Parts: sequence; C-alpha cells; structure tokens
Amino acid sequence: MTAIPTAPRMTSDVHDTADAGLLLAGATGLVRVNLAAIASNWRALADRVGPARCGAVVKADAYGLGAARVIPALADAGCTAFFIATPGEAESARALLPKADLFALDGLAGDSGETFARLGVTPVLSTLDDVARWSAQARARGVKLPAALHIDTGLNRLGLPARDVRRIASEADLRAGLTLRLVMSHLASADNPADAKNREQLLAFETLTALFPSVPRSLAASDGLMLGSAYHFDLVRPGYALYGGQASQSNPAPVRPAVTVMARILAINDVPRGETVGYSATWRATRPSRIATVAAGYADGVPRSASAPDGRPGGYVMIGDTISPIVGRVSMDLITVDVTDVPPGIARAGEFAKLIGDGLSIEDAGYSAGTIGYEILTRLGQRFERVYIEDAR
Ligand SMILES: *Cc1c(COP(=O)(O)O)cnc(C)c1O
Repeated sequence: MTAIPTAPRMTSDVHDTADAGLLLAGATGLVRVNLAAIASNWRALADRVGPARCGAVVKADAYGLGAARVIPALADAGCTAFFIATPGEAESARALLPKADLFALDGLAGDSGETFARLGVTPVLSTLDDVARWSAQARARGVKLPAALHIDTGLNRLGLPARDVRRIASEADLRAGLTLRLVMSHLASADNPADAKNREQLLAFETLTALFPSVPRSLAASDGLMLGSAYHFDLVRPGYALYGGQASQSNPAPVRPAVTVMARILAINDVPRGETVGYSATWRATRPSRIATVAAGYADGVPRSASAPDGRPGGYVMIGDTISPIVGRVSMDLITVDVTDVPPGIARAGEFAKLIGDGLSIEDAGYSAGTIGYEILTRLGQRFERVYIEDAR
C-alpha cells in the first residue's frame, strides 16, 4: 500500500497514467481509493440527515476498498457508529475504533457471542433464539449486554417477525440482562422512491418501534436516506453512497466517486477481418481491427459476464477519452478490447486503460455485466496495487 504524498487532481484523471506510472512502475493494475472523497461523502450525508446521526457501513472490508484505511478516515471525519457483519470484521474494526459504537449485522452465529461480549460489540439480533442466547450470555456473566433488534417490515430476509417483536416488548424476561441500543429495519425498494413498499415499511416500522419508546431507531441505508426526513429517525446506515455509489438513478445521493481502477495495456494486435478473438472464438472481427490486451481479468474483479460473446454489448473500458468495448471472453488475467476507433497513438502497450473512474462509473461497470456496482466494488481483486489518497487539498 502506497500513500500519495502530494495533492491529487480531483477534477480530471488526465494525468493518472503518468502519476501511476511514476509511483507504480511495475504494477499491472491499480485501485486508487480516494479516502478524502469518502470522508467528504460521509460529511455530506451527515449534513443531509442532521439532526439524525450518520453511521457508516464498513462490512465486507469496507465494500472491498480496505477497512483498515477506510475506517480511520471515517472516524477522523467524525463518524462514531459503524456497522460490520461478522465476528472477524468486528475484531479488526474494534482494533481501529476503541470507543465507537459497533454493530454486527449478522447477529449471533455459532459462538460469536463470546467475541462480541469481549469486544463490546452490539450484535443485531434477528431471531428469538438470538435474543434468548444473548440474554443468557448476559445473565451468565452477571452483566448488562448491549443489543440491537432487527425488525422485519417486509424485506423477509433477516429480521424478527412482528409477533416476535411484540413478545420481546411485552415479556421482559425475554430481554433480561440486555440493554436495547437500537431498533432497526431495512428497506426493500428504497432505490425506487415511487414504490409504495417504502411507505408500507415506514408505517410498519413506526408501529412496531412504538413498543420500545425510548430506544433509538434506524431504518435508512444509502437510498433510504434520500427518501426524506421521515425515513431518518435517530441513525442512518449508509454504505454504498459513502464509496461514491449511486444505486438510485432517480434520486442521486450528494456524493462523488471515490474509486478509480486502471490496468496496464500489455499488447496491441492487428486482427484481420474474419479472425476471432479469445477463448471459444466467440467474437469475430467484422472489419480489420486493433485489439488491446489489458492485464485485468475475472481474478481482478472484471466479471466474466462482461464478455460480449455473441455481439451483444458487454463491458467496456476507457482508453484515453474513448469508451472501448470488451470483445471476446473475459479470462482470468486478461481482457481484450477493441481499440480500432481509438485515435492513433493513444492505445499503446504500457499505458493504462481505465476500468472504473471519471467517465466510467461503478454502476456502468455493473450494468454492462448484468450486475450492480455493489458487486463490482466488493469483488475487486487483491492483485492490483492499492493506492490511498488521503489529502484532497
Ligand atoms: C449492507 C447494509 C446496509 C448498507 O446498505 P447500502 O445500500 O450500502 O447503504 C444497511 N443496512 C443493512 C441491514 C445492510 O445489510
């Protein structure tokens, strides 16, 4: 990991190739994470939802970007409530955040209760069995343990059904030894503000949380917080938007991109009309073509579904200023890109092609491969050099 000591260029990636070349002479690929952008995205969301508190979801290694770097940047920006999923993530987050509120979204699995009790992490409990086991743990230790309750309001994924919520509220024995720190739920369709499901879930959440009058409430993630202040309650839990993601096209969050991914062009080949490119010969040149072979494949997080095997559009990359289609199969280490239309002299072996960044969003990369930006981020491979920008002067 290399920190860039000088001020990065925030408005244009024109000089990225030169910067990257200087810094990373031997790198085949580069993931550049702009920690300053992540911090300013958090501040923008915190401003948007105030007086509600703005937390940060840093599960899955901060959406693949490196929790060890992202968490301190968010803490420096002022964030004091963090959500992770697993006991392993709780361990590493707690080491970075001795005092912050830490919530574990996956609740109690196996004997993770031991870990959470030791670390002072609040598990998000989603089954009656979880509640009973956590309460037993508290009584056995003779201490009060912090708990969050996850209430299902219509996602039907992870969360207590209404009848169990009512039992926990009315039968004090069930929650003996527990201090309720949060009641929360999760929206199914927040990326579509017009979906009636949002209001239905909001009403169900209000009804069920009224059973716990003094406990802080949290309903919204990145898209939910854009639905308006009725959805903010006491704490919001954005993840994706912090990293520059825009899951909702109709209701964009006030955030900017934070990730650039580049990979080296290894070779440029002339491919005559009628020849095929790549495994299984799925793409055939319909004109004399120039093909750039780029050092990024599915092991680096380029989905194999970004292949354009039968002429349908697949993924694309940016070479210079030209959007250039991936042709043929994505393989483990390599993609092949049609650069016939790139102006002469721009596509050269040794230069970098841009996979994600200015002009090519994580959403673009996701949709063109039949997936979403979330999956693109969390599957970025570990093989590329990672560069963290800390200072946005
Ligand atoms: C992952 C997750 C979030 C964060 O969602 P984003 O869409 O990334 O903001 C919030 N709450 C729960 C329960 C989650 O699982």
